[in-house]
Amino acid sequence: MLCQVKDKERAGIINPIFTCQPCGAQFASIGVKDCIGIVHGGQGCVMFVRLLISQHFKESFEIASSSVHEDGAVFGACGRVEQGVDVLLMRYPDVKVVPIISTCLTEVIGDDIEGVVRKLNEGLLKEKYPGREVHLIPIHTPSFVGSMVSGYDIAVRDFVKYFSKKTEPSGKLNLLTGWVNPGDVTALKHLLAEMDIDATVLFEIEAFDSPIMPSGNHVSHGDTSIEDLTGTANALGTLALNRYEGGKAAEYLANEFDIPTIIGPTPIGIRNTDTFLKNLKTLTGKAIPESLVRERGIALDALTDLTHMFLADKRVAIYGNPDLVIGLAEFCLDLEMKPKLLLLGDDNPNYKNDPRILALQENVDYEMEVITNADFWELENRIKNEGLELDLILGHSKGRFISIDNNIPMVRVGFPTYDRAGLYRHPVVGYAGAIWLAEQMANTLFTDMEYKKNKEWILNVW
Ligand code: SF4
Repeated sequence: MLCQVKDKERAGIINPIFTCQPCGAQFASIGVKDCIGIVHGGQGCVMFVRLLISQHFKESFEIASSSVHEDGAVFGACGRVEQGVDVLLMRYPDVKVVPIISTCLTEVIGDDIEGVVRKLNEGLLKEKYPGREVHLIPIHTPSFVGSMVSGYDIAVRDFVKYFSKKTEPSGKLNLLTGWVNPGDVTALKHLLAEMDIDATVLFEIEAFDSPIMPSGNHVSHGDTSIEDLTGTANALGTLALNRYEGGKAAEYLANEFDIPTIIGPTPIGIRNTDTFLKNLKTLTGKAIPESLVRERGIALDALTDLTHMFLADKRVAIYGNPDLVIGLAEFCLDLEMKPKLLLLGDDNPNYKNDPRILALQENVDYEMEVITNADFWELENRIKNEGLELDLILGHSKGRFISIDNNIPMVRVGFPTYDRAGLYRHPVVGYAGAIWLAEQMANTLFTDMEYKKNKEWILNVW
């Protein structure tokens, strides 16, 4: 088999690709309306994550910390949650949803978050905030297992589990986007509108591309309401775009409410966007309109201009969130490129049995490696010491120094991307995403050709 799937062989991590589970839970919670999460742990568990998310979106948003100190770490810190919830509710009269997101510290000391939530529901909320709608939702995200990816998946499931309630069929579709950008949400909504599908786009962060309005400074908030989450149980179907970011919630809705469900594939590239539209048709019975056939044609035309002449045989390394990495690898293969190395930054044992990875193993006809539990050293070491030759790197901004130090061009994609302007505005999903990605890759290679004086004359006659 030419495509090998391996675990990283070293113990320890040198320059991690991912951050920890609470980050994913915080990212999910910013997609919920009237919601401010309390991260139960040290202040850094919020401060660094909030910085990362703010750097990525270039926006301001709110998230709270129970700010556990030494005494809490030794004697238990449930009291910090009680105080935190009270302060949050006083300070923000419109907040209705408060996820209590655990961290490594508070999981190790064994704080009983469910117990605190029961106590607050019976005591503080009844006594001090009678009549106010407040939902306290425990979300367990210890950081010594999984990664920000599994943290997102767990949080999405727990929000859905908490709110979903069977009443009357709504005729709407649940769309679980996974960890995407505002530009992706806009592109997905466009495809849904073209197909005339009434959908609830869940954990919706389109508004994180926020305007500055005459009324003053803007703080970004997600758009998924309590009603949206409650209604997930009454949908005609669920489509989860990502297996590892929303898959758990999709499975919960299928098992609990018997909702027809399709998980994946991530609609990156033409092939996967075609499948996405077919899945929409299967779940809703709506036809794929001529307008989307035309959009597909425009995308095909754009890719045809680039594929054979510039992209074919280019060797690529890709790292980041697994659904994104696999989707990008599939797209690169369709563009005749050669993804040589895929780095998945946590130890989820399911990656090895992912049908998309199995398909790569079956079909790839050159040497390729997929490394799980990977770190950046897996990439750097192969380039510096093992003779890995690359034409392009695809991944988020945290790997930029490998690109800079080794003179390998790089396209920023994924989370976080903070060292290029406005990337959150551009979709990577759908036909629009296929065009944008292919043209970004081509333009990056063009710049590199000119800079290194490598066949740049081709650009003159193209
Ligand atoms: S690893 Fe633990 S201490 Fe560090 S940010 Fe994550 S949850 Fe907080």
